[in-house]
Amino acid sequence: MKLEEIMSIDEKHYMNTFGKRTPVAFDHGKGIYLYTEEGEEYMDMFAGIAVTSLGHGHEGFTAAVQEQVGKLIHTSSLYYIKNQALLAKRICDCSVADRVYFANSGAEANEGAMKLAKIYFYKQGIEKYEIITLNSSFHGRTLATVAATGQPKYQKPYKPLVPGISHVEINDFEALEAAVTDKTCAIMLEVVQGESGVHICDDEYLIKVRKLCDEKNIILIFDEVQTGMGRTGEMFAYQTTPVEPDIFTLAKALGNGVPIGALCAKEFVAKGFEPGDHGGTFGGNPLATAAGMAVFDAFEKENIVENARAMGDYFEEKVKALGSPEITEVRRKGLMIGLQMPEGRAAEVQKKLFTDHVLVGCVGGHTLRILPPLIITKADIDKFISKLEAALA
Ligand SMILES: *Cc1c(COP(=O)(O)O)cnc(C)c1O
Repeated sequence: MKLEEIMSIDEKHYMNTFGKRTPVAFDHGKGIYLYTEEGEEYMDMFAGIAVTSLGHGHEGFTAAVQEQVGKLIHTSSLYYIKNQALLAKRICDCSVADRVYFANSGAEANEGAMKLAKIYFYKQGIEKYEIITLNSSFHGRTLATVAATGQPKYQKPYKPLVPGISHVEINDFEALEAAVTDKTCAIMLEVVQGESGVHICDDEYLIKVRKLCDEKNIILIFDEVQTGMGRTGEMFAYQTTPVEPDIFTLAKALGNGVPIGALCAKEFVAKGFEPGDHGGTFGGNPLATAAGMAVFDAFEKENIVENARAMGDYFEEKVKALGSPEITEVRRKGLMIGLQMPEGRAAEVQKKLFTDHVLVGCVGGHTLRILPPLIITKADIDKFISKLEAALA
């Protein structure tokens, strides 16, 4: 089907939440490349917003998902599900979590995290229900996660918002301390803010936040929906810091594109959920959890996390060697990369790269956002850097 035809049907029948999209539709993919029906090749340096970390058409992953589709897709959690148990164990084995609950998206995992923090105190008869998050954060598009997202543009049409959520500036400990009340049940933050353009929490800040939570009996939640699963050069972003969260959430790369979210918690807080307190029809179904297991298998077999760390360093070295005066700052952890540019320039560069068949992201015209598949090689990076150089010229 011709792109124009898809566009005209979409325009008529799809809700207009995405406006004018980038004018291309992909038919298949292999590794870090995507292809249109006509066979035009695009280099994917955005990985479907940090989702397809194993790239497209990954052999082992595809075979495992295909096999599961042929066997069984869904039963509901009324029955035991082998891979649901095994994937939960696998996440616990490599993290501070003792228990996991599977959802279908990042927003839903974060909803679960906020509910768990509230019910943890409710069950103890302690009246604590307020949540503090950061400005410029992104936690999802459901009503509660929109309220948690510290960006007025996402909140304005949906007022009144879910109450009890306040926001403070990232890396401003005094502001956070001042926002805490005796009703504060949780502080939720991204170790690296993704959607707003790669803003990183300082180690000293996180140490103080952790201490504050310990002293004031507050649950610390890390939203690792984007940073989780190797993106930052460790399996989870908190492992690049000196602190541990009580709860963290995952989603984007956990299923390499098969929708799955995870709410992961230490035992003391996980105990807050008892039979009937939370649930969902699809969460952790046989297909989604088989996909998650296949992602872990590939990560182990191919040393994906080590590659993300090494390629992140290599990328930064190469981009700095360009010496472009237009790149005023490189913000990065692992392969979560933001290139700061003069206002408007990043949008132009993104457009030029698209014309050259390279996909990247852009925040507000000033930050080029690059989230390549974690399987990327030095040769791929060299190729991208030369294309970036051309786009900057
Ligand atoms: C993408 C994202 C979400 C929302 O995930 P969805 O699957 O789109 O609901 C939440 N938090 C962070 C940090 C994200 O990057």
